Amino acid sequence: MSPRRWLLADQLGPHFVDDDQPVLLVEAKALFRQRPLHRQKAHLILSAIRHRAAELGERALLLRTETFRQALSQVTGAIEVCHPPSRAALRFARSVEGLSILPPRGFMTSFDEFAQWADGNRRGPLRMAAFYRDARRRHDVLLGTLDAPPPSANRPAPPPSDRRIPPVPEIEEDDIDAEVRRDLDRWTAEGIRFIGRDGPRRYPATHAEADARLQHFLRHRLAGYTRQVPMSTQDHVLAHSQLSSSFNLGLLDPAPAVRAAEAAGRTGNVPPAAVASFVRQLLGWREFLWQLYWYFDPAYRSPNWLIANEPIPDWFLNLEADALQAHCMSDALGAVRDRAWAHHAQRLLLLGNYGLQRGWRPAELADWFQRAFVDGADWVMNATVIGMSQYADLARIDTRPYAVSGVQIDDGSDYCGNCCYDPVRDLGEGACPYTAGIAAFYQRNRARLGGDARLLEHVTSDVTDKDRLDAIAAQEAKRASTAP
Ligand code: SF4
Repeated sequence: MSPRRWLLADQLGPHFVDDDQPVLLVEAKALFRQRPLHRQKAHLILSAIRHRAAELGERALLLRTETFRQALSQVTGAIEVCHPPSRAALRFARSVEGLSILPPRGFMTSFDEFAQWADGNRRGPLRMAAFYRDARRRHDVLLGTLDAPPPSANRPAPPPSDRRIPPVPEIEEDDIDAEVRRDLDRWTAEGIRFIGRDGPRRYPATHAEADARLQHFLRHRLAGYTRQVPMSTQDHVLAHSQLSSSFNLGLLDPAPAVRAAEAAGRTGNVPPAAVASFVRQLLGWREFLWQLYWYFDPAYRSPNWLIANEPIPDWFLNLEADALQAHCMSDALGAVRDRAWAHHAQRLLLLGNYGLQRGWRPAELADWFQRAFVDGADWVMNATVIGMSQYADLARIDTRPYAVSGVQIDDGSDYCGNCCYDPVRDLGEGACPYTAGIAAFYQRNRARLGGDARLLEHVTSDVTDKDRLDAIAAQEAKRASTAP
């Protein structure tokens, strides 16, 4: 008899199980007690586990316990698991006697292939663009005509005037979702804390739902896909696929999705740049982040190269968007509160940028992103928050901090026209917290970043005017604990 395959909560698609082998699924309540997750994320995880159990019928053993160890102690016979997605989960799996750990699934580059590439590039920082070129060559994807990288996400495009991107089809909840909602209400009454608002389930919980969304995206929305997106109060989703949680729950296998996007490009109905942007996300960024998580040692999360030791204030941790006057931050934090999701420009240029400017502790911010976002995972937030967003890793993966002022936010959004702050002012009444924030950030870290011309171009004050920078730093220190 085949060993029973333990499917973790991010291994829920068909490619994580072989033939008709028996399966174990576990709902460990301790996972939800440890630290507050977004309510919609908790719902999606439970819904996906229960839907998978229902799909597999008698093949599945679904155990609801306090801890994973309690569940595993109830299983008899041989048991195995695909390589877990976090260091903590891997440590736990290794501690379980008799549990076989198989190689990872759901990624296109193996650990050996990545190590070979990275070891050959040790002389400098590891760059996603170079890794992506290597991955395309290895997988024979988009070779030849699509070499130009898509525009940088660091400079958002202005809001488009013409919106013809069909919306993402809504998901129909079922009895399983109703049961999940009742259970989460009960857990809340018992004292388990969640953040964010409950709402209709917006993200796929099964392979079928995820695949339907992928097919709709390829047919109707991929043509509008670009990395260079505006930040708009009119449309929070734009042409994003809304599939990141589906890939990270393991509902979708990235390899066929990449091939399907390539095929969509060959129809001539989708601009090559749109196909390139989407494939770059899957075959490039997603794989790169996964590999870096395992390639760097665990201490990657602890260094804090910039001066960043401040605790994250409660208004941010608890998604108190309505308490804010800064229109952009209120909108982005409200999107997280209401959808457990915001797009990458909002994550980097509003949420991450604000924390970077104020010297919030990078590891705590990475933890917040993981808990508050429906697609958050330890391996995703490690490099994106610690490295890219907070630049705490001494430029091991990025070349400059993602610090921008209100002027850049105004260029790429429709926020500033309806804000009580002035995006060009960094001192005095009406000073924009981002424009003042970047000057204070520069002042605090100038010994480390003083010569970075790409950072300096975003500071609106004269950086040789020390008195003015000191005054801005004092102003920002005074309003550090208050919501902007
Ligand atoms: Fe945001 Fe500043 Fe613009 Fe207000 S003025 S919306 S705080 S960037």
